[in-house]
Amino acid sequence: MAERITREQAIAEGWFTPNDSGLCQCGCGQTTNIPKWTAKRFGHVGGEHVRYVSGHGTKGERNYRWRERPSYNAVHLWARRSFAKLGRCQDCEKEVPTEWANISGVYRRERDDFIELCRPCHRSFDRWRESLLI
Ligand SMILES: [Zn+2]
Ligand SMILES: [Zn+2]
Repeated sequence: MAERITREQAIAEGWFTPNDSGLCQCGCGQTTNIPKWTAKRFGHVGGEHVRYVSGHGTKGERNYRWRERPSYNAVHLWARRSFAKLGRCQDCEKEVPTEWANISGVYRRERDDFIELCRPCHRSFDRWRESLLI
């Protein structure tokens, strides 16, 4: 299983810039989201403030347009066939029936872009992601 990427690793790999003030870097004074999950292609580390309120940044979230996703079902089918499930939710850690959730919403066929979640966690994950992207 992939280890959770820490803030330090993400900084060392060069794709994460910490936002310790928790304020949007555009200067609007609003507090930014704290994603629950790490999504490398957004530069997000779980539990760390993102740099911009959705739509305020010059790059990042806005480059990933939700509507450009490939077929949701095709990629989920692929995920189901390609990865063995542990039968354990990676968020609440309950041992219950799980589903593959796509982290970035881009639906790339990459193992790092999927996490195994129970149904309730998957639903709240999808709500969180959509609030970030739309
Ligand atoms: Zn802003
Ligand atoms: Zn769960």
